[in-house]
Amino acid sequence: MTVRPAYCIAIDIGGTKMALGVFNSEGQLQGDTQIIPVSFDEHKVADAHQMIFAIAPYVEEARQRYSPLIGIGLSICGNINKETGEAVLIPNLHWRHLPFGSMVRNAFQLPVFAGTDVRAAALAERLWGVARESQFFAWCTVGTGYGGYLFLNGKLYDGYHGFAGPFGHITWDEEGYPCGCGRRGCFETFVAGPAIARAGQAAVDAGHSPLMAELSQSGRVTTQTVIQAYQQNDPAAVSIIEQVARLIAINLSGLINTLDLEMIVMGGGVIQACPQLIERIKHHISRYLMSDEARRDLRLERETFTNSALYGAAADVFLRSGVIKEALGA
Ligand SMILES: [Zn+2]
Repeated sequence: MTVRPAYCIAIDIGGTKMALGVFNSEGQLQGDTQIIPVSFDEHKVADAHQMIFAIAPYVEEARQRYSPLIGIGLSICGNINKETGEAVLIPNLHWRHLPFGSMVRNAFQLPVFAGTDVRAAALAERLWGVARESQFFAWCTVGTGYGGYLFLNGKLYDGYHGFAGPFGHITWDEEGYPCGCGRRGCFETFVAGPAIARAGQAAVDAGHSPLMAELSQSGRVTTQTVIQAYQQNDPAAVSIIEQVARLIAINLSGLINTLDLEMIVMGGGVIQACPQLIERIKHHISRYLMSDEARRDLRLERETFTNSALYGAAADVFLRSGVIKEALGA
């Protein structure tokens, strides 16, 4: 791998806030990450002009401090065209066919490289993280949503239409809860943060967990409430997290049995708050794996960075502009 010295700005746009950081081409964050709230208009649509206005001072500061500053990497929580930067469908921001990449490019007169957050996270783990040596792995996030991205045979795997990766939308129960994707009963509706909160609320409403009732302010159980109670060995919370671990193990084993993966790298808000979940998934998964080889060799690892997608947005800039020469399919 050859690397030229250079800098870029990376921005990870989530459903409620943006993270912004400046990186050098060794993958080192320069200074602190800035967290900037996303502003929404009266129709709950994220205000792209306001977002660009909010990041402008940081872009100007970076332009003065770091040279050469070669571009801006955008990681976004939804479907974005990586060639044009068009935000095709971003449910959390209520964006459909918004040319966000070119808006940012025009505002700052810098090259812009955009991509989906899960794809960016997989790229960062492969270039600078725990999957550095791996040719076959999946990035898996458990947070507000559940899903990930694939890295197969030494390259990011985008699929025929560019939609590969959302294994959280494999159906588990076709009569199940409605899902953000418009269908019902996807794995995501059973294992992501909102599902954990829902199960906790049901336990409290049924009188099964005095501890969660006590921990939940104003009677509303959150994902955090369940995790806190789990860490104090509350039986109802333990049974919720065990069920989540078992279902994730079933879901991931399907990927591993199909694709013969070496490693799953796990991140996202739920894993950050409850890293023990990885151990519990490990405990359950071997019984669903088909081969002795997978049972022997499979690695489940925690993400390397506190925000892998932010690092990935930077990695994408350096790889696609040729500053880092390595063929990873970026
Ligand atoms: Zn779904």
